[in-house]
Amino acid sequence: MGVVVPAGRPTDAELARLAEDAAPFVRLAMVEDVLNLCRANSLWPITFGLACCAIEMMATGMAKYDLARFGAEVFRPSPRQADLMILAGTISRKMAPVVQTLWDQMPEPKWSIAMGGCTISGGPFKYPGEYAIAEGAEKIMRVDVHVPGCPPRPEALIAGILTLEEKIKQGRRFGRTR
Ligand code: SF4
Repeated sequence: MGVVVPAGRPTDAELARLAEDAAPFVRLAMVEDVLNLCRANSLWPITFGLACCAIEMMATGMAKYDLARFGAEVFRPSPRQADLMILAGTISRKMAPVVQTLWDQMPEPKWSIAMGGCTISGGPFKYPGEYAIAEGAEKIMRVDVHVPGCPPRPEALIAGILTLEEKIKQGRRFGRTR
C-alpha cells in the first residue's frame, strides 16, 4: 500500500496513519544504517602513494600506530578491491590522469582523503608560473576529507580516517560529482 500524503494541515489521526504506512521505509533506513556502520568500520584503502606524504601514510599502517584498531589496515593492491583512496603527496599533471583512472576503477561506494598541503592546494609547489602540478586534488576528483600539514603526522591521518568514518555512519554523500 502506498503512502498517501493528506492535503493541507494533517490531523493527528492522519499523521498516525501516515506513520503506519511509512513503517516499511523506516525499517529500510535501519538496514542502511547497519550497512553504513559496516562500511565505516571496514575501509579498504588502495595501496597508492604520490610523494613524501606517502611515507607518513605507510607509518600509519605500521605497528606503532596500528591502523587495524580503526578497521582500515587492509591496503589493497587493486583499485577494484578498494573503497578508500588516500591521496598522499604532490599530484603532478603527468600523474593526474593516472589518479583519475584509478579512482574511476574503484567501485561505489568509495571515498577519498586528501592528505597534505600538496593534495589540498598545491602546497609549497604552488607559485606564479608553475606548470608541473595539479593545484589541489579537487581539481581532478571528489574529496571527502582534507588532512592539512606538510606532511601530516600519522595521528593526523588517523583523525582524518575517523572523521570519514563518522561521515559514512551518518550516511552522507558529501557532494558526489564523479
Ligand atoms: S605536503 Fe609536504 S610532505 Fe606532503 S607531499 Fe607535499 S611537500 Fe611532501
